[in-house]
Amino acid sequence: MLTCPDCTNGKIIMYGHTHYGRQRYQCNNCQWQFMATNDYWIAPKRES
Ligand SMILES: [Zn+2]
Repeated sequence: MLTCPDCTNGKIIMYGHTHYGRQRYQCNNCQWQFMATNDYWIAPKRES
């Protein structure tokens, strides 16, 4: 089961695709959006 890499207890929902055809996800707890490849997260750094 996918869990949010940021808040670690959020539910991950699919959130469409990027321009590069990768699946995009969003955490429904902290609203963080990120992408994933086959074996690792691509986690954009949050703006402070
Ligand atoms: Zn989260």
